[in-house]
Amino acid sequence: MAEKAEKVKPEQMAQINHQPPLFKGWMDIPAEIKPGVFCYAGKPQNLKYIDLPNPREWSPMDEDWKLPSNWKEIVLEGLRERLERFRSLKIFMDICVRCGACADKCHFFIGGGDPRNMPVLRAELLRSVYRREFTTAGKILGKFAGARDLDYQVLKEWWYYFFQCSECRRCSLFCPYGIDTAEITIIARELLNLLGLNTDWISAPAANCYRTGNHLGIQPHAYKDMIDFFLDDIEGITGIRPEPSLNRKGAEVLFITPSGDVFADPGTYTCMGYLILFHYLQNLGLDLTWSTFASEGGNFGYFTSHEMAKRLNAKMYAEAKRLGVKWILGGECGHMWRVLNQYMDTFNGPADFLEEPVSPITGTKFENAKTTKMVHITEFTADLIKHNKLKLDKSRNDNLKVTFHDSCNTARGMGLFEEPRYVIKNTCNHFYEMPENTIREQTFCCGSGSGLNAGENMELRLRGGLPRANAVKYVQEKNGVNMLACVCAIDRAALPTALDYWVPGVGVTGVHELVGNALILEGEKERETNLRGDPLPGMEEEEDV
Ligand code: SF4
Ligand code: SF4
Repeated sequence: MAEKAEKVKPEQMAQINHQPPLFKGWMDIPAEIKPGVFCYAGKPQNLKYIDLPNPREWSPMDEDWKLPSNWKEIVLEGLRERLERFRSLKIFMDICVRCGACADKCHFFIGGGDPRNMPVLRAELLRSVYRREFTTAGKILGKFAGARDLDYQVLKEWWYYFFQCSECRRCSLFCPYGIDTAEITIIARELLNLLGLNTDWISAPAANCYRTGNHLGIQPHAYKDMIDFFLDDIEGITGIRPEPSLNRKGAEVLFITPSGDVFADPGTYTCMGYLILFHYLQNLGLDLTWSTFASEGGNFGYFTSHEMAKRLNAKMYAEAKRLGVKWILGGECGHMWRVLNQYMDTFNGPADFLEEPVSPITGTKFENAKTTKMVHITEFTADLIKHNKLKLDKSRNDNLKVTFHDSCNTARGMGLFEEPRYVIKNTCNHFYEMPENTIREQTFCCGSGSGLNAGENMELRLRGGLPRANAVKYVQEKNGVNMLACVCAIDRAALPTALDYWVPGVGVTGVHELVGNALILEGEKERETNLRGDPLPGMEEEEDV
């Protein structure tokens, strides 16, 4: 399916009809489940591993999804419970005035034109059932009050469309009432999970994470092997071999990053950047350990239910306690930071066995991390640069014309706008912003967040990635941009495919790859290549002579 979508020419894919059908209401047009748009069903062994109900083989294209006979009661009871538990959900169900301000703000609607991907209509899929079951007007007036029964077709429609929302929250920014459709999607997915209706691209990483500590299911010895490969490469490039410690008790700081940085290009170069930075800081007083057990910052549980997110997140504090560290430094990740910043205190806190984070090098107190005790690595590095603690040679990144993609979760989920930009501007000479309405809090999703980064749903991903790619194309044509920097492992995994398709010639990097390139290590040999093994600017000519 992936190949099929990529074979469609971008000019063809970009022919998008945004006109809703005339003369017929959305309820009268049944949803059609199309290959290329959905992810495969969760496999029974993965559902079993994390105690999700109804493990069985099934396919979204099947007539019969093999549900329990009382599936409707289960869902409606689940909705009733959640309306009582989450005041926000009840409010979001009641207050939408259908003004349409959010309608054209979703990347999936912009790139695909399917009206059910307008945030207002996506929420209406659930709201219509809410009205029917929980409001007097809906019970009496039915369709005239925008209400409808929950039947098998409606349930399938929910599954199809709530797994076409990347929970990016862009729509919420434009809603005059602050309705957050991502929160509605989260609840709808919880309801679907009560019936065992998950996707394998979510349930497999969640099960892996529960079993081995990371999404890819990599065991501690393999994690160590990967770090050793990076050390070999760093030694080859710089002549210096860092000596990081793993699982060391009594260290001051525990470092946790998404496993994508350790196992998948181009995140691996970001990981090399961390290793170079920590080596540099060792002599300045950084006492840091990695962990092969808390080997994942990301949290695919968050795309399943609040309970699953809490369960997977617990390992961070558990490992910090076991090792006896004072605070935690977190790597470049998206949903990891949304969970940490918005939920960790309530999920797993209070972390009163940890201390308020203080940089051992600059003495800066990270007061924003007072409760979670976790600091984002771009905050940490920006602080080092601000205090003149890093020797940087920006010219080593002169082959790059860089733009910055604000990841939805770090931008809208935690307000991290300036620190990554500050680090990039201090490690690169050429930096260009994309248009204002596509960055910072208005940033466009990569199109593959919240567990949509599979291969079989490639048409959806490419369509969802179109608005972001379009903004990249603007700076490519205007400024010659050839590299997009980001602080999210899913972005690093997803955007290369979307950019290759829509804007060939633009690569993807993590911010700390740029740091690793620019940082001048004491005693290092003259570098000839960057961390990717490409000749440094100026070195190509020398080779030719
Ligand atoms: S949260 Fe993002 S993906 Fe979901 S409806 Fe809103 S804009 Fe679309
Ligand atoms: S902007 Fe808010 S109130 Fe208006 S349609 Fe969208 S969700 Fe409803």
